[in-house]
Parts: sequence; C-alpha cells; structure tokens
Amino acid sequence: MKITSVDVYHVRLDNPPQRNWYPTCIKVNTDEGICGWGEAGIPVKAGKEAIGRYIAELAPMIIGLDPMDNEKIWSTLYSNSYWTYGGGALNFAAISAVDMALWDIKGKAVGLPVYKLLGGRTNSSLRSYASQTQLGWGGCRRVSVTPEEYAENAMEAVKQGFTAIKVDPFWTDDEGKAASANREAVPPERRSSWTWTGFASGEQLTSVSRRVGAIRDAVGAGVDIIIEFHGIMDVNTAIQVGRELDQYHCLYYEEPGSSLNPRDVLEFRRGVNTPVATGERIGSAWGFKTLIETGAINVAQPDLGIVGGFTEMKKTCDFANLNSVGIQIHNMGGPIQCAATLHVETAIPNFVIHEHLSWNELDAFRRLGKYDYAPINGALQVPELPGIGQELSEEAIAQSEVTHIQ
Ligand code: MG
Repeated sequence: MKITSVDVYHVRLDNPPQRNWYPTCIKVNTDEGICGWGEAGIPVKAGKEAIGRYIAELAPMIIGLDPMDNEKIWSTLYSNSYWTYGGGALNFAAISAVDMALWDIKGKAVGLPVYKLLGGRTNSSLRSYASQTQLGWGGCRRVSVTPEEYAENAMEAVKQGFTAIKVDPFWTDDEGKAASANREAVPPERRSSWTWTGFASGEQLTSVSRRVGAIRDAVGAGVDIIIEFHGIMDVNTAIQVGRELDQYHCLYYEEPGSSLNPRDVLEFRRGVNTPVATGERIGSAWGFKTLIETGAINVAQPDLGIVGGFTEMKKTCDFANLNSVGIQIHNMGGPIQCAATLHVETAIPNFVIHEHLSWNELDAFRRLGKYDYAPINGALQVPELPGIGQELSEEAIAQSEVTHIQ
C-alpha cells in the first residue's frame, strides 16, 4: 500500500460550539482505496490558522510511503521537519494528525478497531468528567461568578450522571471580569485587575475558596472535583492557592503553571497535599520524561493531537505506567480526535478518567462527526468500527476550507 495524497480540512464553522474553536482534520489517501482520518490538536488560540498550512508543508514527505510503517513515518517527519528537534506544539500537532490517520488506515486494512492494535480492551467503560463547568453545562451556557452559580453549574452535570467535574474557579473576579485563560479574549474594559502571579491577595483566596467550597457542599463527597489552573500561575502563587484549596479534597490540580520548568511543577507537588496533573501542551514522550521521572506529577495529560499521535501517545502512557503515573488524556479536539482518544483510553492500564468538555454536549459539536459518541450516565464506550470509527460529517466538510496535496 502507498500513500497517494493528503487532504487538509480546515473546518471553518459558521457557528462554532465554542468561541474561536476551529478544528483542523486531515484525510490520508492510498492507492488501495483505504483512507485514514486524523486531526491536529490546535483548534484554538495562536496556531489554529497556521496548522493546516504546516501539515500541507509536511505532506509531500509521506507521499509514496507505506502507511503501515507508522514508526518509520513518525521518525521521518520528526527528523526532516528540522525545527521539531527543539519541540513545539505546532510541529508535533502536524505529526500527530498524520500519525492518527495512519493508524486509522492500519485498522481499516486489517478490519479491527485501533484499540485492538494498541493492546485490546482493558477498560470496558470510560468514566468521564464534565470539563470546564464554570462555563455552564448542557443547555445552560452561563459563566459562573458567584459561589452559588459555580455550584449550580456543577450540579447540572451531576444531574446528568457525571460523578466528576472539572472547574476553573479563577475564571473571573467577583464582578465577572475575565481573570484567567479567557483574559485575552475579551476587550480591555472587561479584564479583571486580579492577577495570579506575585502572590494572590486575601480577597482572591477567599473568593476562590468560597467557590470551590460551594461546589463541594452541593455535590457532596461522592463527586470528584478537578481544579483547572490553566497554567496561569507562578509557583509561589500556585502553592498559596493550592494550600487554601487542599481542604476540599479534590481529585487533582491541573497545570499549575508552565510545564517547561519541571522543577517548578515538582516544587508545587511538594508544596500541596492534592495530586498534580499536567501535560496538555507537551509534544513527544521526551517532553514528559523529566516530569514523570522526578515524581513532579501524579497524572500525565498528553493530548493525542499534540503529543505525536497514537505512536508517541502509547510510549508516553507506558512510560508513565512504569513510574506509577496515571493518564488523563487532554481532549479539546473535534470529532476525529475525540473518537481516537477513546481507543487509547480503552487499551491502557493506567487510564484515570476521560475529559468531556462543556461544548461537546452541544448539537453544534455533535453534528461535526459522521457518528455521535456521547456519554451515557457520565461514561463512554469505544467505537467498534475498523480504524478510529469516525470521519467528518458532510455538514462539516461543506463548511471546510480544503487543501489537496499530492
Ligand atoms: Mg487544561
């Protein structure tokens, strides 16, 4: 079998399920008529426009190669893209999209779902958490500001059957002005004066503590709470906040600060009593090596569309398992990546929990894939079709800007 061409789909939705969210998917075509779907893990922020062009630059390197040779193609893209030796989310997102498509082809060629090729079924049901409940849940699209609103939004997910939620309690100040990862997305007059570096004020600590406390009171001890830091804090502030929130017995703290300094993550880990997770922006298994080896994290959060596709994800998961680190795959992609993620989670022994985002619930998201894989009572099942078991819907293709490379 030989790769003959690559189609890049930049899905430019009229009404995206989340503001400024535009996935980039690819289809790798072969001379035997089998095609494979993949997706790059940069649907938001800087790079979401550039990633399609980057993939188009890499694509000629794989035309004429055998798509079954995923390990060789991974190495070819890694070494021949030159800058990738220095890391970079854009580089690894492009390799991820290609690698995902190769495994889709491999599964279709042998008539098996990808998880069977990754080790088979270890986990028959994938427990999920409702992610980013500060934005609202289900039909309720209301950003939480008061402790009561944080509790109500979390309870929307619990009523739907979720036994775990993730929340960013730093999202706004008490007036509803943007204070976290959304700060740059709003006009200057709607940005809070709160910062999360150089120590948090007593007012800030009291506010976030009340918010998380209100959630814990509402959901009870039987529901797990993950706290999303969104990488916004320096280590001193993160420890200060983490110690304040330790009293709520959360499942883990996610991405306290930049992952580029593993020593800071380790210092945070030693400074708090709650487990620590990070990794959604890290490319390659090497990017996780020091974090895992030093015991800086309890849970690794590689993104299938950033880490390097199935080939690199499996190595990362296995290395984490050798070091008693759990895996919660970061999952903010479109339909291809969401379905692909389920295959890894089904196969690995160190699976912790699946991430299901607030906008994954919306019709605007669920119509993007040919198949709809939605959680029932807060749990998901892996697709049983050959390959990944997902492709873009006709509706999504009609709203895509397509580049054909041959
Ligand atoms: Mg995150």
